Amino acid sequence: MGMGAETSFREGEKMNKTSMASRIFPVALLLASLTCGARTVAETVDPSDGPEPVVEYAIDARLLPANRDLEATQVLTWRNPTQIAAKTLRFHLYYNAFRGPETTFMREHGLRRFKSRKKDRERRYGGIDILELNRIGGENLTKKITFMAPDDNNENDRTVIEVPLLEPVAPGDVIRLRFRFQLKIPEIFVRTGCWKDFFFMGQWFPKIGVFQSDGTWHCHQFHANSEFFADFGRYRVAVTLPEEYVVGATGNSVSAVNHADGTVTHTFAQDRIHDFAWTAWPQFKQLRRNATVPGRERPVEVVLLLDPQHEDARDRYFHSVIFAMRFLSEKLFPYPYDRITVVDPPLGAAGAMGMEYPTLITGGHISFLPDGMHFTEMVTIHEFGHQFWYGLIASDEFREAWLDEGINTFFEGEIMDAYFKESPSLLDWFGIRIGDAESRRGPLKGIPVVERVNQPSWHFLSGGNYSNHVYNRAAVFIDTLKGYLGKEQLYDFFAQYARKYAWRHPSTHDFVTTLNEVTGRDLGWAFEQFINGTGRLDLAVHSLSSQRLESDPVSYRNEVLLLRREGFFPAEVLIRLRNGREVRHLWKDPGRWKRLEFTHESPLHAVVIDPEFRIPLDHDLINNSKTARPARRESQGAALKLGFLFQTLLGMLFM
Ligand SMILES: [Zn+2]
Repeated sequence: MGMGAETSFREGEKMNKTSMASRIFPVALLLASLTCGARTVAETVDPSDGPEPVVEYAIDARLLPANRDLEATQVLTWRNPTQIAAKTLRFHLYYNAFRGPETTFMREHGLRRFKSRKKDRERRYGGIDILELNRIGGENLTKKITFMAPDDNNENDRTVIEVPLLEPVAPGDVIRLRFRFQLKIPEIFVRTGCWKDFFFMGQWFPKIGVFQSDGTWHCHQFHANSEFFADFGRYRVAVTLPEEYVVGATGNSVSAVNHADGTVTHTFAQDRIHDFAWTAWPQFKQLRRNATVPGRERPVEVVLLLDPQHEDARDRYFHSVIFAMRFLSEKLFPYPYDRITVVDPPLGAAGAMGMEYPTLITGGHISFLPDGMHFTEMVTIHEFGHQFWYGLIASDEFREAWLDEGINTFFEGEIMDAYFKESPSLLDWFGIRIGDAESRRGPLKGIPVVERVNQPSWHFLSGGNYSNHVYNRAAVFIDTLKGYLGKEQLYDFFAQYARKYAWRHPSTHDFVTTLNEVTGRDLGWAFEQFINGTGRLDLAVHSLSSQRLESDPVSYRNEVLLLRREGFFPAEVLIRLRNGREVRHLWKDPGRWKRLEFTHESPLHAVVIDPEFRIPLDHDLINNSKTARPARRESQGAALKLGFLFQTLLGMLFM
């Protein structure tokens, strides 16, 4: 259905002289309808309903902190989930992104921040080397490994390898591979690496790509803007290191075995996840709390690995992560794992801050920020949200990153606003008060060009344009859908979508299809413009005028001209007359302009498009309202005043 056929926005009527006088909406009722709560959902999702696991990793790693090296063996069991035989295998060697300044990751990273190029040449690099690769019960594949750069043909990029097999893996069959590999651990500046004796290990092991139903491999290079995509499976990882290290990792701890040489082996395991990260630092303070979670019988164990200098952040971490876990468990489905580990990296390892891994997140606490800046809560809530939007509903972060970052950023705003209740959720400091959700509009004003939100991450103009589209623009779009559908229906959709795609990999198409099913509408027009297209939205009041009728001197001919300067979105229009009466018009036809004409005993006073600010996607809010002439003080209605003030302030704040 095209956008012109859309009829299901709130029922409105075309304006005419008779409806004009009779349709005076009680403002209080409208405002009340905006604040209706969402339905409570706590249906459990059964992991056994999900698809069969595809991978099983068993890794034995030994960290040599003095050399900043790691040696490991890895047994990978891979099941071919398709109907096509796999003649080759492809693997990510993400760690090679940090091999030197000319990798694709580093080149793109340098483009993101020109000034860092000099530093990029001087920093300590790292990398991964596969010393041996054998098919268990079969051939030695070590010498058959070739590097490839499917995205940009960069010969200096070694983040993807391909291995041909003498004997293909038939559909449904299993192959077992034994790797021996070693890492040189880089100085940490993006997510993974070390700082002094602090280690954060992400993207650190050879990871098989995703074999797709068309018989091709989904195995992109490591890009500066892109994150990850992998099949679900079982991980069991043993890390041996000096016993003074405090260790945290994805999954549950199975055992810790001390050895005579002063080392200890920590073993962690978890089913139905798609990545594994761990951290080690002698100074970590390890704290634990059990959290009851709606819909779960057993509590979830919350493990906090805290920088001992951040004692003041202890409760901020615990409270915000537990709040987010309860919020999403209630709205989507109960958090299904038994543990969540929250890592608080030291400031020197700030590159590790604010990242998500299955059942493990890194926060970010900066001691010198005032308490009114809710950075610690924002990062914790955002990264926990990824346990659902990435961890469980595992969309493709390479190609459709908005599906996790955009949705998760939207929920970050929802959870932050619920967490801080009445007070502004992001910033409440020296009279500057900004809510988390409303903070997204500001950066959008500065983007150099509007791109498709839904495109591969490395196709964006810059890191700034990537995050402004994939995080901010997508979140503002979803916020606009919330205004359009109502909170209850949007949350109902998210609950159904999340449960349908738990332990799966939904696409944008799945998202839109499910949304249309749940709402009984065709919302394709919105996605075609603002997610799959490069449309921007700007609705404007062009003019308003009132002329006394010669034939009937007690009546006025009133005219309002509305413009769709850019894009289409249905909007409510509030018209206020000089005599204090208010009329609302639903502006939903897709023409580029709309002239509203009527005669009335009172002339026009003012016109506001979207007076309740339900369309945050509207690019320019200042042109959303116009007043006929300087208003007489006593005639200003509260709603109109608020509408004007709110829109003008927002418009000014986020120029
Ligand atoms: Zn994120």
